[in-house]
Amino acid sequence: MKKIGEIGWVEKDVQKCGPLDAICRPLALAPCTSDIHTVYEGAVGERTDMILGHEAVGQVVEVGSLVKDFKPGDKVIVPAITPDWGSLEAQRGFAMHSNGPLGGWKFSNFKDGVFAELFHVNEADANLAFLPKGMDPAEASMISDMVPTGFHGVENAEVAFGEDVLVIGIGPVGLMAVKGTSLRGAARILAVGTRPNCVALAKEYGATDIISYKDGPIDQQVRELTNGKGVDKVIIAGGTVDTFAEAVKCVKPGGIVSNVNYLGSGEFIKIPRIEWIVGMGHIRIVGGLMPSGRMRTERLANLMMNGRIDVSGMLTHKFEGLDSVEEGIQLMREKPKDLIKPVITINY
Ligand code: NDP
Ligand code: ZN
Repeated sequence: MKKIGEIGWVEKDVQKCGPLDAICRPLALAPCTSDIHTVYEGAVGERTDMILGHEAVGQVVEVGSLVKDFKPGDKVIVPAITPDWGSLEAQRGFAMHSNGPLGGWKFSNFKDGVFAELFHVNEADANLAFLPKGMDPAEASMISDMVPTGFHGVENAEVAFGEDVLVIGIGPVGLMAVKGTSLRGAARILAVGTRPNCVALAKEYGATDIISYKDGPIDQQVRELTNGKGVDKVIIAGGTVDTFAEAVKCVKPGGIVSNVNYLGSGEFIKIPRIEWIVGMGHIRIVGGLMPSGRMRTERLANLMMNGRIDVSGMLTHKFEGLDSVEEGIQLMREKPKDLIKPVITINY
């Protein structure tokens, strides 16, 4: 990111490897919708000559003197969020907000990201995860961000057996929310989106009903499909600040609206007074940045290794070589109809 609205290549020194840190080279990289919010909406503010990217599988090339578990040559999954694990926020259970709101989101936010020949990872033992033997790096790169973010929407929604759940947005994040909702044992999963291959994959992942936000208000369609009852939980993985109004209108008393969408613009989110049951409906609204760390990341990899999640259908555009990152970012920006997720592999 050269500045808001402009990308290009820049030559930079590699950050020094501290005693707890690692330097890695990329094996697979994926541009994210968040990179687009950052560059083209200026959502985190101005950044000059900052390296983008936070979704990577890599190979360790150097470790600090105090790193115990990783060594040069190890293949690793690099989570998008790399917290400071000794912080007070981490001790409270919110490592993603270590040393300040969203403080664990360092790559491509307030530190150089992974779209580089070499990148730096803080607290390697806590933040890196081993790439299981035989796992395809391109598929594993979905464990950096898409799987943990979609699944976090499900965790925050506290999805329980037999519930009816609405997932708004079925890009890669929403698709993983659909899959996670299905794994958690929901009965009915209503999914909102229009891109045909996203719709097809949502059905494969367990969606029972598809709603197009272009066919009228989502809440009206949900009420029609549920005999006026609404759903137990809503997970938001797309839309805008206005989407909350529709989401709240869909949920039953005692329900949860769980947001993982990055609200890159707009001043306020909208909560409708009547449908929020005049403030007394026990309808919770929660939003969260993905949790990370070695333990969680290796668990998600374990799900993939055992065939519980198959992300292969999401990787619609595959490239080879670091230079292709630029094309990947442009694709993410333009979102052609057949795109779900671009991924770039690098062979040495
Ligand atoms: P995509 O752009 O690929 O998908 C967005 C989805 O929302 C699509 O299905 C789209 O439909 C749908 N949509 C668009 N407009 C509306 C609307 N008005 N009402 C309802 N649905 C709508 O995004 P990603 O899946 O890549 O990412 C989703 C969000 O998650 C992004 O904001 C991203 O920045 C954020 N994110 C958050 C993270 C976290 O930790 N919380 C981490 C990573 C990403 P259509 O099929 O028509 O395109
Ligand atoms: Zn991302």
